[in-house]
Amino acid sequence: METSLAIVEKVSPLCNRANTASPLFFVGTRMWAQRTLLGGPGFRRPKKLMTRDSVMSLIKLLSPVRLSRGLQIGIMDGRKMLKTTYRLITGGIAHESNTFSNSPTTFEDFQRQTYNRGSEVLERNRGRGVIGGFMEVAARNNVELLPTLQASTTPKGPVTRKAFDHLAREFLQRVAGFQDVDGAILLLHGAMIIEDLDDVEGYLLREVRKVLGPQRPIVTVLDLHANVTRAMIEHADCLVGYDTYPHVDQRERGREAMRIILGILEGNLKPATALAKPPIIPPLQGYVTFRSNGGSRLVEKAHELETHPDVINVSAFAGFPFADTPITGLGLVVNTNGAPVLAKRLARELAEYAWTIKEDFRVKLVEPTFAINIALQAPGGTFILADIADTGAGGTAGDGTVVLKALLDSGARDVAVAQIADKAAVDLCIQGGVGSEVTVTVGGKQDPFHGDPVEVTGIVRHISDGTYIRRGPQNPGGEERMGPTVVLELGGRHGIDLMLTSFRAHPSDLQHLRSVGIEPTDKRILVLKSAAHYRAAFSPIATEVFEVDAPGICHPYLERFTWKRLRRPIWPLDPIEEMPECTPITVDHQRKPRTDDDEAL
Ligand SMILES: [Zn+2]
Repeated sequence: METSLAIVEKVSPLCNRANTASPLFFVGTRMWAQRTLLGGPGFRRPKKLMTRDSVMSLIKLLSPVRLSRGLQIGIMDGRKMLKTTYRLITGGIAHESNTFSNSPTTFEDFQRQTYNRGSEVLERNRGRGVIGGFMEVAARNNVELLPTLQASTTPKGPVTRKAFDHLAREFLQRVAGFQDVDGAILLLHGAMIIEDLDDVEGYLLREVRKVLGPQRPIVTVLDLHANVTRAMIEHADCLVGYDTYPHVDQRERGREAMRIILGILEGNLKPATALAKPPIIPPLQGYVTFRSNGGSRLVEKAHELETHPDVINVSAFAGFPFADTPITGLGLVVNTNGAPVLAKRLARELAEYAWTIKEDFRVKLVEPTFAINIALQAPGGTFILADIADTGAGGTAGDGTVVLKALLDSGARDVAVAQIADKAAVDLCIQGGVGSEVTVTVGGKQDPFHGDPVEVTGIVRHISDGTYIRRGPQNPGGEERMGPTVVLELGGRHGIDLMLTSFRAHPSDLQHLRSVGIEPTDKRILVLKSAAHYRAAFSPIATEVFEVDAPGICHPYLERFTWKRLRRPIWPLDPIEEMPECTPITVDHQRKPRTDDDEAL
């Protein structure tokens, strides 16, 4: 039973009733205080009135045991809580690792992109993203967020053991460094892989659990592309996944996660979780929730299940397909309020539904030349050729040349290509300077999966440091760093504006082009190396969008890959007549068996 202490002073109805002008105090839960003392319905007499002296001695007495779950101390003045109610650790390490990439993710990759330490975690997320969502609800509820470390970088090959050890050590040391902690609210991804470990988030959650002990709640937000595991649902009290792809609900999910952890701390929510993993790996595009397909239908169904009064949250995780591991694939997570049997039933129901609609996850691509011809023959408009298999957000080389080659061969004009990552080519253009003519070999250099290098000659039109601030619907205010970037104009004015970046980049905001002097709405054809995120910003300006069949290690035709470690049989790779038995894993967080790992500090 929760033994919260709320100290209320200067509450006039209470003072009047007690017939005294001096502040009075009572012992009870904060929720109870709000309901009964602050003008809510059903006013009742406080359970116990106390003088200031006795309250102060009680606080002294209680402080050493404040670590136990659910105990809160707050001073309220009218409707405002003057002091902190809960102290929650926040932060996390996030990465989406593509095991088909030959380029490992290093510590420098994190350092170059998102490596926020201590107070920077809060300063740099204010008003945006998942952590911005945490902060918003925290501020309204006087929750003190204890920032640890936030590290993330663009998807690429698995993270090196050295880089991970460095980051995890810092993160966990910071987690352990706080005293008087009530729980942890984290931002992880769910598809991070180290050279020798598939389930990195399961590991991180277990380590945070070791520090916090079995009773204090841990809630984490995960990306929609998480490959969810048993360890994740065991060590976190609740997982909250994005519901949208492109991910435009990050802040909203942050707010939701904070409301859930507050519910747990107040004693109103007692999560019981079920995870179903039907043998399905949906290609990324089959899960774009902006249009009707398997993914949007599944998320819709999840929302339907969320209307049950005993359901806290349902997350239909798509999984990240380009990870050749046994844990890859769909993960359907149902969090209920103290109802493990219901959680299991609904997770199974969702899994069965996913199986019946799985053909809706299929994706059909067109040849680049087909799309180019339609765009060139149209009387006007802006046509997007999405080079989805070489998406900047999926761990590919980002230097694929097949679409560029098709454009050059067809003599297409009024084109912008965003973009080819090729530092050597960028350096050559910068050496030449704006206005100079250069001949350079671009792209196709990192691996054999993204086309051959192409020699081009053009005029350097623009040079920048490649940094811009996002303004579109996805993560507005966020900073992007493409590294030194140039625009090489091929075929004269109104030819092909070829963006060359030093780092792999991802066009998912109109500023991506505008920041280098290209107006996307002026172009007949935009080539965007993006699996789906481009849709949030670019669909509104597009006459038509074509997903083109060019090579790359995020290609939706999964049968083109060589799989070694994936669990089999699995859809769509194997012929499976009926859905194999798929018993959801269930964890009741109120009665979960504690392992040795779970001992409190
Ligand atoms: Zn994602």
